[in-house]
This record gives sequence, C-alpha cells and structure tokens, in this order.
Amino acid sequence: LEPTCWPTGPKEISDNKIDFGNPSNASALVKKTALFYGASIVGVCRLDHRWIYSDSYESPIKPPYFEPKHKKIDIPDWWKNVVVIGVEEDYNAIRTSPNHESGTETALAYSKMGFIASSLAAYIRGLGYQAIPLGNDTALSIPLAIDAGLGQLGRNGILITPELGPRLRICKVITNLPLESDRPIDFGVDDFCTKCKKCAKLCPSQAIPYDDKTFEGKTVSNNPGSHKWYVDVEKCDLFWLVNSGKKQEAQKRISVSDCSNCIRVCPWNKPNTRIHKIAKWSARNTPMLNKFFTQLDDALGYGKQLSSKDFWDK
Ligand code: SF4
Ligand code: SF4
Repeated sequence: LEPTCWPTGPKEISDNKIDFGNPSNASALVKKTALFYGASIVGVCRLDHRWIYSDSYESPIKPPYFEPKHKKIDIPDWWKNVVVIGVEEDYNAIRTSPNHESGTETALAYSKMGFIASSLAAYIRGLGYQAIPLGNDTALSIPLAIDAGLGQLGRNGILITPELGPRLRICKVITNLPLESDRPIDFGVDDFCTKCKKCAKLCPSQAIPYDDKTFEGKTVSNNPGSHKWYVDVEKCDLFWLVNSGKKQEAQKRISVSDCSNCIRVCPWNKPNTRIHKIAKWSARNTPMLNKFFTQLDDALGYGKQLSSKDFWDK
C-alpha cells in the first residue's frame, strides 16, 4: 500500500498505545500535528471503500522496461479512518501557469505532501496505532477530501475549498486510530460553477465542460454514475505531455511545464487577505450575485497569466 517513493519512517508501532478516551480528542491532536508538520488544511472522515482503487499499477516509465504489473488492492475493514490533508500552492507561482514556475510549484507541493503525510503516519504509529501515508495512490483523494469537509467538487473536476479555492494538493493517512469524523460542507460552489465557466473558457485543451452536470463520463478514463461535471482527462493529459515536451507535438509547446490554468483562473483562488475573505464571504452568502462576481473578477483582471519575469521581480 505504501507509495514507493516516500520515506515512511520507522515501521514499528509503539507498544504504549495512548488511550484518548474520546475520538474527538484524538482528532484534535492529529489535526494540530498535521498543521504543525506543514498542512494548510486538514479534515477527518471514515474510509469509504467506494473510493479505493480496485488495482494498483506499477508503471514501466524507466529502464529497464518491464511488463506493467497490476495488483488487487485489498484494504481490510479495520482501517477505519482517513486524515485528509491539503497542501497550499503558492499563489503567484500558480499565476504563471502553464509555465515553469507553476509546474515547479506543483512538484514542490507533491514533495511537501510526502514529508507531511509520512511524518504524520510515523507520529500516529508512535501513539500505538497503524498508519499509512498516501499520495494520489490507493484511493481517490477528492471524494475523501469532500467527506472530510475540506471542500466541494468544482466544474474543473478538482476540489474547491473555502480557504484556498482549488490551489492545493491533497494527501492522506489511513489509520485504525479511533477519530471523530468531520462533515461535508456546502458553501455554494455548485451554483457559482453553474454561472461562472471561467475554467472551461480558459482551458487550453478545452477539456472542461460548458454544459450542465451529468451522470455520464466523457472518456473511458472517467468513472460514470456520479452527478457532476466530467472533465475530458485524456485531452488534459495530452496537453500536459505536449506542454512538457514529452510528445512528438512538443515543438508546438508553449513552455516546458504542465498546466494549472483551471486553478489559476478560478475566482475562488485568491490569497487569504482581508479583502478576498470579504469577497469569498459575499460569494457564499449572496448566490443571486454570482454572475456579477464572475464578471467583476474578469473586469479586475484576475486570472490573467503572470509572466516569469514578473514572478521573479515581484
Ligand atoms: S490542467 Fe490545464 S489542460 Fe487540464 S483541465 Fe486544467 S486547464 Fe485544462
Ligand atoms: S473557474 Fe468558475 S466554473 Fe471553474 S471551478 Fe472555478 S468557480 Fe467553478
């Protein structure tokens, strides 16, 4: 189950199992510890087995090449809880998307995920309980983050949070430590996304839908059956490859990077300054003005690409 590239710390579980008396005490401690290690936001939920991948896949991306290996993922029921961690990405670096600095920021956030989740797992083992740190592997991060009350799913197919919008990466730790779960939240993302469509307009591969939510996926890579906006992840992936110079079409590339445009342009993606907190509060509490807020976001020039020069001069 363990991500192959992450240090997972000492595997021993402490013999001195701490009795918290009440799962809410354990949740409070674990959340505080995750924040101490560098998490930006953190929530807790039960491990819903619908979000666990059926198979793991070992990718032959490096020589010596070998046949891809598939293994069934089987997580016993006693792994009951998940600590879900959001790691903020730098606002100005993401503003350069789809360019070098945003790509570097994405990679940097993945590195932080490894440190935070591995450290937290080692800490929980020190309390006398099992814990495994996970990145994108083993289980879908976004549904778990929604269950843990961190945010809602946006039109762009990613998690939108009240604090950071979509500007974060997600990792998680599964554990048998008894924890109190958080509840899913609704702060108006559905209605806002219905009117906004900014990410759909500014997606370079036109992978994000303009139309209403459906139950049907767009490609074989989608998982149909949920009522949501389905992103054509294959178009998105192809753009990442082209933009990273990893495909024949590389000569058409804009830069040597991946893409974070659907994070960059989202009106929820703002630094947590006082003025932006007021704007987010207004968007949450006056849905009848959502169309106006989107137009205002455009009129004020938010979401435009920041040049590399301006990023470094700032
Ligand atoms: S990452 Fe870029 S290409 Fe992919 S969906 Fe978002 S904006 Fe489109
Ligand atoms: S850019 Fe607009 S439509 Fe897209 S996810 Fe953000 S709020 Fe929703």
